[in-house]
Amino acid sequence: MTLPELVASLTPFLATFGAKLNDDQWEQYHLALADVNPGDLDDAMADLRRTHAFRNAPLPAEILDRCHVHRKRRYVNTGHAAPEVKARHDEGEWKSFTLKGIGTLRLHVLPDDHPALPRYACLRCKDTSWEEIPNMSDKPSQPTCRRCACWQSNPEIARQRSKDAEYRQRKAS
Ligand SMILES: [Zn+2]
Repeated sequence: MTLPELVASLTPFLATFGAKLNDDQWEQYHLALADVNPGDLDDAMADLRRTHAFRNAPLPAEILDRCHVHRKRRYVNTGHAAPEVKARHDEGEWKSFTLKGIGTLRLHVLPDDHPALPRYACLRCKDTSWEEIPNMSDKPSQPTCRRCACWQSNPEIARQRSKDAEYRQRKAS
């Protein structure tokens, strides 16, 4: 997607949040979103119109994350595997890990939500439909998990559910 195309698609969306970008900011949004599918971008904006809770416009990474969800959903719907996404060499960071008895090794680590990693439709629950409630581990009487908000809409969970139903049906017949 070219910069003018991106400006045309994003401007009405950003106006929802009363945001106007300067040239440098547009450049940043374009760097992040140049490779997304325009349909995925539309779906991402529709999501964010409903869910983005801040007065400021969503940041490029937030929009990109939603685009990836829709990209994956699109491939799940067609039954084809999404083409592999390769990490660029400038993405991620070097981290040192110390293993007892082995020593320290340095690994190049990508962020959890990088599209080259196994994709989850929902990063909050990693498609398990259960998300951890933060700061509950010190209160043993309280539940530490709750149903994730994606429970109804997550395509991976829906697929799992229909697979389970199919299995039960086959067992019953
Ligand atoms: Zn979830």
